[in-house]
Amino acid sequence: MRIAMVGTGYVGLVSGACFSDFGHHVSCVDKDEAKIAALERGVMPIFEPGLAQLVERNVAGGRLSFTTDLALAVGGAEAVFIAVGTPSRRGDGHADLSHVFAATEEIARALRGPAVVVTKSTVPVGTGDEVERIIRETAPDATAWIVSNPEFLREGAAIEDFKRPDRIVVGTDDERAAELMREIYRPLYLNKAPLMITGRRTAELIKYAANAFLATKITFINEIADLCEIVGADVQDVSRGIGLDNRIGPKFLHAGPGYGGSCFPKDTVALLKTAEDHQSPLRIVESVVKVNDLRKRAMGRKVIQALGGDARGKTVALLGLTFKPNTDDMRDAPSIAIVQALQDAGARVRGYDPEGVEQARPLMPEVEFAPDPYKAAEGADAVVLVTEWDVLRALDLKRLAAIMAQSVFIDLRNIYPAEEMENAGFRWHGVGRTPSA
Ligand code: NAD
Repeated sequence: MRIAMVGTGYVGLVSGACFSDFGHHVSCVDKDEAKIAALERGVMPIFEPGLAQLVERNVAGGRLSFTTDLALAVGGAEAVFIAVGTPSRRGDGHADLSHVFAATEEIARALRGPAVVVTKSTVPVGTGDEVERIIRETAPDATAWIVSNPEFLREGAAIEDFKRPDRIVVGTDDERAAELMREIYRPLYLNKAPLMITGRRTAELIKYAANAFLATKITFINEIADLCEIVGADVQDVSRGIGLDNRIGPKFLHAGPGYGGSCFPKDTVALLKTAEDHQSPLRIVESVVKVNDLRKRAMGRKVIQALGGDARGKTVALLGLTFKPNTDDMRDAPSIAIVQALQDAGARVRGYDPEGVEQARPLMPEVEFAPDPYKAAEGADAVVLVTEWDVLRALDLKRLAAIMAQSVFIDLRNIYPAEEMENAGFRWHGVGRTPSA
């Protein structure tokens, strides 16, 4: 099948490359000329494990190409995916749909044959109706079915997630459109990934409900972690103890610095705005958003407390800056608020990240970046493990302690056992664990 993927970011590029790997012919479109030029030279605009090889293989196979010419890609396509960004709208937190609607208008003008127009971007309930209206008005003669197909991949494991999804959600009432979508996803469907056909509005809401639920699970265990610290319990054991219950499940129960990233923060807020618009408040999600916002700066205060309550003139090394490992994505990363809180308290901050420095630099201009974790920690008064990249999971703790001015370790991901940190001579603090004396 011939597919046009409009928007070649984290989702569009991975989805387009995976569809081409299934044997479809995919043209990935972006209005960012530098991005397309880089892709044409074989240079990936993002860091995502396995992506470069996947792209190279399918470009060489003649199934995957890149262009800035939307009309060219859409004109010959039987399926057009919209995978442009839907950030938070400045000022009010609604999803900013300007890119979706701009792309839809361009698509409508370029549509030729019968095609499904599929929204893969995360969009609020009812957006599909608006996409349909734009297409019917701009291209009244075109045969097009407007479908919702939200994406659930996780950055850092995006290819695996796309190729082995827990489920595929397709929102359409039209049997012909459903048939085309089944054909697109056939390779996964044959591997028994459940393909759920629902109403379009239902599909749109499934995506937000999933993200809000996962954000709730993380926030729940984070609050339990705070209680653990006060009552002398261990949150990792609490997580295991509840996660082994099949009704609860072990995932998304790791206490930490609060959720961040390109999806949960904006999607939870956008869902609240939808609920507000429909006078159907979502009080649990409201609390989750508030608690998580407060948590990020609270992590800064935790570091200051570990430094004895005064960070003025102290040097703090932050290890891992991206919102999670295996991505270079810095959108809404907890590290940003932590840096801010530390700098406001008069600390000097050094940072280390294996892949995220280029994106981190403009967001934290006063941070000094180090080429490795040990250089970051040299002479520092505290080390804070913010994001658990593999290279940070097996640090030489004794070497680290020896090169620091004070051996204080704040492990916001609970990677290191108390005993190891104590043997290395650290005064340590975790999340939801009793710190060293
Ligand atoms: P992104 O910012 O990485 O990529 C969006 C791309 O769309 C950019 O390259 C931009 O230049 C391009 N674009 C914007 N308008 C365009 C137009 N009119 N024509 C052509 N290209 C255009 O965004 P992303 O992280 O890939 O997210 C895309 C959507 O997928 C969002 O709605 C997001 O919420 C959703 N989503 C993201 C993830 C994730 O992990 N990043 C996961 C699931 C769903």
